[in-house]
Amino acid sequence: EDFSQVELTPIIAANIESAHYTKPTPVQKHAIPVILNERDLMACAQTGSGKTAAFLIPILHRLLVCGPVTGAQSFGGYSSRRKQFPLALVLAPTRELATQIFDEARKFSYRSRARPCVVYGGANVADQMRDLDRGCHLLVATPGRLVDMLDRGKISLEYCKFLVLDEADRMLDMGFEPQIRRIVEENNMPPTGDRQTLMFSATFPKEIQMLARDFLHDYIFLTI
Ligand code: AMP
Repeated sequence: EDFSQVELTPIIAANIESAHYTKPTPVQKHAIPVILNERDLMACAQTGSGKTAAFLIPILHRLLVCGPVTGAQSFGGYSSRRKQFPLALVLAPTRELATQIFDEARKFSYRSRARPCVVYGGANVADQMRDLDRGCHLLVATPGRLVDMLDRGKISLEYCKFLVLDEADRMLDMGFEPQIRRIVEENNMPPTGDRQTLMFSATFPKEIQMLARDFLHDYIFLTI
């Protein structure tokens, strides 16, 4: 059994091969078809399970195939000239995790027209802004830095059709719930149901269940 079980655009399939991912991990095997089927997802999966590729591969595939990146189709008024308008947003608790997700996104989007960016606290905002100015289809961000940039009007979430909360339980443990709610509920992100939302968490306590209830629409629940 390999990744060819699901039909992926050739450039992504080639990048998976270059990464030497020959066999999907359990979370990849189950989550990738769900995400390609445009369903919301709550997945309980640990670090090391391969969860990063489980959401990046289908999102990058959809971004490339559905047209917005290549400009092949209109996408609700989106134009690739709108550089600080990510089509996909991944929230992660720490700079380290955000960087790891970004590195993986670069690997899978290599030689494609999809451009990933990363922003996190403790680093120069102007440098991160200059990078966003070069175009940003998939943004990986820590919640605090993203709120800061949204407040400054540097980024718009108007065209953000994919939202991922990675290590959601850790983000709540670190006290990021107010920032997460501001990003998702008090900006111009498409509402639940008009976007695809994916939550990954090692545990599933009441606080995560409440976030899932508020952010997800008719979702698939997966425990690995
Ligand atoms: P993650 O749980 O996403 O942090 O991934 C854990 C590690 O497994 C990372 O170093 C990935 O590069 C690696 N990995 C993820 N999926 C696969 C796969 N299908 N085959 C081989 N390595 C993988």
